Amino acid sequence: MPELPDVEAVADLLRRRLVGRRIDRVRVLDHAVVRSPSAAAFARRLRGRTVRHVSRRGKYLMLSMDGNLTVVGHLRMTGDFVVVPKRAPIHPHTRLVLGFDAADVRFIDQRRFGHLDLVATDRAAELEGMRALGTEPLGPDFTEERLHALLRTRRGAVKALLLRQDLVAGIGNIYADEILFQARLSPDRTGASLRPAELRRLHRAIVTSLRRGIAALSGRGRTIGDLVEVRKRGGTCPRCRRALRTATIGGRTTYYCRHCQR
Ligand SMILES: [Zn+2]
Repeated sequence: MPELPDVEAVADLLRRRLVGRRIDRVRVLDHAVVRSPSAAAFARRLRGRTVRHVSRRGKYLMLSMDGNLTVVGHLRMTGDFVVVPKRAPIHPHTRLVLGFDAADVRFIDQRRFGHLDLVATDRAAELEGMRALGTEPLGPDFTEERLHALLRTRRGAVKALLLRQDLVAGIGNIYADEILFQARLSPDRTGASLRPAELRRLHRAIVTSLRRGIAALSGRGRTIGDLVEVRKRGGTCPRCRRALRTATIGGRTTYYCRHCQR
């Protein structure tokens, strides 16, 4: 399931390929993918627009056009944007095609939970879902003090707190486990129990794990994350080689090392 690094990698691709280019054609192949306005209005308003900026907020992707219009997208479970030559055959799970001069941008989504909204750029932050987003973990506001203020009174498990998009935006199940592994913290510790040195480690682990994921996904780094790689094989702790534990925390399957994470 896409998390902040995955969405940032998609934003990076679209930014490099689309900024300054004009949308010649819009085909909505699955009307359910457009949440607002209607599929017909979505297509009509976008046609002829030029992409000005591509950005990310939490797990949301934003394509801003001239004329105060922004497409806000959420990939959910299986959504993805791909850039392909316009003559490339249409993949069976393609939900939307934005046609540019030489290439198509296609939104592909097997499970169909992903969605797009076309909104006024200056009102995008008010969109349902965007409105409640917390601090950007790679932004200038995300300091150790900020993290401390967010966690210090919370009795919930730190894993569940990391998953809350209204506290820190963009972290999902996979990176929450990676971050806690890097910070050497047990996922069931409460926010309020974290000591200053532990908060410092957690803050650092959030920033470095997400940055490492982005670097790996954009081809500039070696691995997505130590525990992310191990999780795929269900194996042993990359640090001490003991078997990883699994538990359900915050309703999500959690991998951790009981020896290294306290
Ligand atoms: Zn270990």
